[in-house]
Amino acid sequence: MDILKRWVSHQVDLGSFDSRAAVYNFALKMTFRAVLLAFMFNIALLPLGYALGLLPLSLADAVKLSVACSWLFGGAVSGALALVTGHVIRELTVSRAEFERLSLTDMLSGLLNRRAFNAALAETGAGASLVILDLDRFKSVNDCHGHGAGDEVIKAVAEVLREVFGDQSLIARLGGEEFGVIVRGGGVVQRIALVERARNLVEARAIHCEGVAISTTVSAGIAEFSPERRPESVYSAADRALYQAKAGGRNRVVHEAEEAGFGPLENLANDATHIGMMHFSGEQVPAAG
Ligand code: GH3
Ligand code: MG
Ligand code: MG
Repeated sequence: MDILKRWVSHQVDLGSFDSRAAVYNFALKMTFRAVLLAFMFNIALLPLGYALGLLPLSLADAVKLSVACSWLFGGAVSGALALVTGHVIRELTVSRAEFERLSLTDMLSGLLNRRAFNAALAETGAGASLVILDLDRFKSVNDCHGHGAGDEVIKAVAEVLREVFGDQSLIARLGGEEFGVIVRGGGVVQRIALVERARNLVEARAIHCEGVAISTTVSAGIAEFSPERRPESVYSAADRALYQAKAGGRNRVVHEAEEAGFGPLENLANDATHIGMMHFSGEQVPAAG
């Protein structure tokens, strides 16, 4: 029984149940195998039945009849069963994939959620920056315009982040009015420039909600991934940089290099050697321009 179970599970490769054609393919394969199995049993048992005098027919006629029966009736019954099973498996596969997607998605913004973000954080190597963004004085948006308007602001900021960082980066809502982005590719300076662009766009774009234009700003902290650095350490460095951005007056971007005393962001962008002096210096830093 165990062998049969393992054999069937081997046939049911959930990953391949992505189309109707795959279901028909599965049904056809299972039918053919079931009929072949039935036929082999018949061939093995018929001579025994014949020897014991249990067959009312000649052995040749009994073999012909068994072939016809296993293909006609066995084939029809196992085919129908395999088809139904295939459809059920396909529905389960689709709903499992949807459940997995939902378990990683933030329902308000449509971005990834903290769970997905944490998983990605653990897997990120060098050549990427971690950005934590937090809306400024968001409580007052809720207080002045209502929770619904606050939600609209969160959605609009999520849209800006999608626009600026695109598919190459991983964008998540970490909770409340806080977002996390893992920016991949380019050099440190280009990645900082992207975060600046996002900050600028949030500031420039008024969000219209029930006839009222709501303006908001965002502060961001950035830290660099590197092979010798644990993800938690990158996260806390970005969080410290965000704290500095808030303490420095909000609506600004602070890189950990700046937070560590290497001077203001403009200098960092103009003189990338400062960034090279940090512990993530293994990364290639392109000339600013
Ligand atoms: P700061 O500039 O220091 O970040 O100030 P802040 O007001 O943004 O920060 P604070 O942490 O004091 O307030 C965050 C507010 O965000 C409080 C909470 O009611 C609101 N909030 C959290 N989650 C949601 C949400 O899903 N929707 C809405 N509309 N508001 C939320
Ligand atoms: Mg805030
Ligand atoms: Mg916050």
